[in-house]
Order: sequence, then structure tokens, then C-alpha cells
Amino acid sequence: MVKTLCILGATGSIGVQALDVARLRGYKITALTANGRIDILENQIREFSPAYAAVANEEKARELKIKVADTSVKVLSGKEGVKECAAMGADAVLNGIVGIAGLEPTLAAIDAGSTLALANKESLVTGGKLVTDRAAAKGVAILPVDSEHSAVFQSLQGCRDKKQVKKLILTASGGPFFGKKKDELKDITPEQALAHPNWSMGAKITIDSATMMNKGLEIIEAAWLFDMAPEKIDVLVHRQSIVHSLVEYEDNSVIAQLGVPDMRIPIQYALTYPDRFESPAAELDLAACASLTFEKPDNDTFRCMDYCRQALSKGGLYPAAVNAANEKANLLFRQGKIGFTDIQESVGRALEMNLPTGEYTLEDVLETDRAVREER
Ligand code: NAD
Ligand code: MG
Repeated sequence: MVKTLCILGATGSIGVQALDVARLRGYKITALTANGRIDILENQIREFSPAYAAVANEEKARELKIKVADTSVKVLSGKEGVKECAAMGADAVLNGIVGIAGLEPTLAAIDAGSTLALANKESLVTGGKLVTDRAAAKGVAILPVDSEHSAVFQSLQGCRDKKQVKKLILTASGGPFFGKKKDELKDITPEQALAHPNWSMGAKITIDSATMMNKGLEIIEAAWLFDMAPEKIDVLVHRQSIVHSLVEYEDNSVIAQLGVPDMRIPIQYALTYPDRFESPAAELDLAACASLTFEKPDNDTFRCMDYCRQALSKGGLYPAAVNAANEKANLLFRQGKIGFTDIQESVGRALEMNLPTGEYTLEDVLETDRAVREER
């Protein structure tokens, strides 16, 4: 049972919701980390009294140290400080960092033997083999926080043999532009793309939802989490985000998990598994849902999902390459420097690189990430 908890990315959308759950469940917070937004972090430190806090940005870390000088928290700084917090051996580490910056802290938490509640999908996308091999060697459980993967995980409870699973069906909201064609996507602004219909999330993943890159990353994430062949992972567009994902079994029985779109349900389940408790999320009122609809995704207009599938099939460092291309392009788009459809073009170009497809090390992944970012 989780008693002590470290939250990485505490000031983000996932981090703040994880603290809601921690407050309700009465977990002892051992460490909190962030990159910026130290005002939020300061308030969190005052409320939860962690022994340690870390800020990746060195200058902000210095500022925080001054702000919380009257408390007993020890403030660490830089990438190393974040990793140190992850490695302190809390019962569970919840990784809510955005991007590949979450990979090394994920590995640090596993090495320390902590249960890993994983929201940072980019850890599995870029270093899937490293992360899953190390977790298996250490006997560490990786519990999914991503809502689709939590839904699959929940729908797999009671499955005695994975061979009886025919396929996983991940649902996708489709984002704000589902139904539009390519020529209608060209002039989309960051403001339009940042307005997600169902979920309130960090900026990077909100853009990933609009391009459907998020679902591509989630296919790769599911392949590693559930040891599933890419062709056994389907995607359905479900605009209402009520059915969070489904598992189809050999007998054509389909088991799904439903709930209101509130990340505190999967966050809490990752921390209390296999038990369930009252939740801060609202009850699902199915009678109030006018309809639940399911459609095929439009892969001709939104190319990223196919590119991620191709990267997964090629293997090796290709997933890290498409991830890096996306992280870079996603940011450039938010900064107004490139157009919306340039993001998918950039991701597609990463597949044309000549990269090893066999075993890789952490250094190989980080080097691929650097090389792809520099090239663009
Ligand atoms: P966010 O941008 O709101 O928060 C990110 C957090 O990471 C912040 O605390 C930030 O300070 C920290 N951070 C950023 N860069 C860092 C760096 N270089 N080093 C250390 N810390 C850094 O993002 P989010 O929406 O909470 O998403 C976090 C992760 O969870 C992402 O991988 C996302 O795909 C995944 N996820 C989010 C949601 C959601 O509802 N927000 C749902 C499913 C999965
Ligand atoms: Mg998701």
C-alpha cells in the first residue's frame, strides 16, 4: 500500500490533480519537483511539507530557495536534483513531467524500487525497452496514469492469459479539428489548437491531441505497457471521452472502462491498485449523455498516428526520433514560428533518417533526441 509519494512535475496539470488525490488519501509527500512556476510549488511545499523539492531550472531553484527559507524543505536544482528526488525510494513515484525530460527520472525511480505511476508517456515512447526491461529486472510495477491505458489496464483485470486478448481499442476524442480536411488545417492558430473540447491539460499534450500525435504516442505506450503487437492496437474516435478504452477478447466480448473525463480517477487507481476508494471525481450520469459515438480516425488528414505506428514497427531509435521531432515542432508551433500542418510533416521526416533498429542504450536515445532537435 502506498504511504509515501514523490510527485515529479508537481506544478503541471497531472501534478496538481495528483496532489488532490494525495490530499484526499492522506499520503505523505516526500518530494515535489517542477521546472518553473515556483509560486505554485511554494504553496505546495507549504501545504504538504515535503522533505525535498527540486527545480530543473537552476535560476528558478535559487529563487525558490529564498522563498521557502523559513521552511524545513531542502531545495535541489537542475536535472540531477529532479533525478535525486525520483531516486529517494518513496513507496510510489508519480511521474507527471512532460516530454523526454521524464525518461531519466523514470529510470531513477525504477532503480530505487519505487512503484511507478506513469503519466509521462514519452518515457515509454523514447525508451520503452530500457524502461520495461529495467522494471522487470527490479520487480517494479509500472501503473498507467494515462486515461486510455488505465482503462485498458482495468479492462484486463481478471484476464488470466494475454493470448485471449484479440485487441486493445484506444479511444481518442479527435481533438478540436476532427472532421476538418487538410486544407482547412493550414491556418489554425495556437489559440484554436489549445482549446480542447473535453480535457483541460498542459499545452504540449493539448497540441498533441489536436494533431493526433497524442494517440500515436499512446499506441507506442500501449505496446510497451501491455506487451502487445502494434497490429493488435486499434484506435476509435469517441468524441465524448466517456469510454476511456476497451479490450476485445477471443470470444468477441468487449470490456471497457467508463467515467467522466477527470484524470483524478486514473491517477488514484494507479496509486491504490488493486483497491478502489471514493474519488474526488464526479459520478458518471449515463442517462444525461445524449449519445456515445464511435468513428474511424481520419489518417489521411491527421498523419501523426500512422507515423508513430511506422516508428514502432521499425523499432530501435525510431520512436525516440519521431518523439523528438514532435516535441520540437509542437513548441515551434506554440511559439507561432511554424504552421499546424508543419508539425506532422516534421514528424514524418524523422522516419526518413537512418537509425539503428536493434538494442539501444540511454545515451543512444538522448543522442538521437539531440540530433533530431538540432537538425530542425
Ligand atoms: P504540464 O505542462 O501541465 O506539466 C508538466 C510538468 O513537468 C510541470 O510541473 C513542469 O514544471 C514539469 N517540467 C517541464 N519540463 C521539465 C523538465 N525539463 N524537467 C523537469 N520537469 C519539467 O503537463 P501535463 O499536461 O501535466 O502532462 C504531463 C505528462 O502527463 C505528459 O507526458 C502528458 O502526456 C501526460 N498526460 C497528461 C494528461 C493530462 O490530463 N494533463 C493526461 C494523460 C497523460
Ligand atoms: Mg491519454
